[in-house]
Amino acid sequence: MATKLFDLSGKVAIVTGGNGGIGLGMARGLAEAGADIAVVGRNEAKSTAAAAELRACGVKAIAVTADVTDKADVAAMVERVAKELGRIDILVNNAGINIRKPPHALELEEWESVIKTNLTSAFLCSKAVHPAMKAAGGGKIINIGSMLSIFGTSFAPAYAASKGGIMQFTRSCAVAWAPDNIQANAILPGWIDTDLTKRARAEIDGLHDKVLARTPAGRWGAIADFAGIAVFLSSSASDFVTGTAIPVDGGFSIMG
Ligand code: NDP
Repeated sequence: MATKLFDLSGKVAIVTGGNGGIGLGMARGLAEAGADIAVVGRNEAKSTAAAAELRACGVKAIAVTADVTDKADVAAMVERVAKELGRIDILVNNAGINIRKPPHALELEEWESVIKTNLTSAFLCSKAVHPAMKAAGGGKIINIGSMLSIFGTSFAPAYAASKGGIMQFTRSCAVAWAPDNIQANAILPGWIDTDLTKRARAEIDGLHDKVLARTPAGRWGAIADFAGIAVFLSSSASDFVTGTAIPVDGGFSIMG
């Protein structure tokens, strides 16, 4: 019973930013649960390597080179996935960047680049997969937020705005597409050891220890921590869960 509840055999998942970091952690979980995967990113070599690794789980996996801020790229990506993998059941909007500056130092182009990558891309990809999910009788959309979906900070105004926006976008899709049996949920990662946080860790004095002190679990997150939540939110186990935002943060967001 439990195995069937989380079984993704025969399902097809698109994971944006699936060629590394949290996206790869989720893609591994989905592949292990039986889903075929389209790994989407700009870096072709990284995506090709990730797809090859996922195929070792015995599923189909393709690398799709696309910039998720570009409407034409997104349309071509969705068309290719439908053609080569046959259907689209799961979309993970995970691609993201940060530009670490306070609001008074942030340029308009920098603001726009972060908002486009973290928020507009989720709109473009979700809208592009909606017809296929609706035609198939349902689907799952997982958007990646952040602790900065909840909290503010001095050094990430566009990032925090994009991640706050992603929660409201998630809720809007959950309501709009409930009649199509599409569930949309967000995951809010705590501090996770990836390329995105490597520089911050190196550059911000004391960050490593501050995160440890604030995290009840007493450690930084690992990309493997995202496999289970991705499978849950992609499977029939979560069919009555929609519009929510689930922290995966070792308790960071509930620490008083
Ligand atoms: P990484 O930098 O390791 O991965 C980011 C991924 O996004 C890469 O695979 C990159 O691939 C892809 N990407 C970026 N821009 C684009 C684009 N325009 N088009 C297509 N793909 C793109 O970061 P993380 O794994 O840490 O982050 C993943 C998500 O998790 C992000 O949304 C981030 O905001 C969020 N997050 C991370 C936290 C952390 O502590 N690490 C905490 C909270 C949230 P490529 O370069 O090939 O395009």
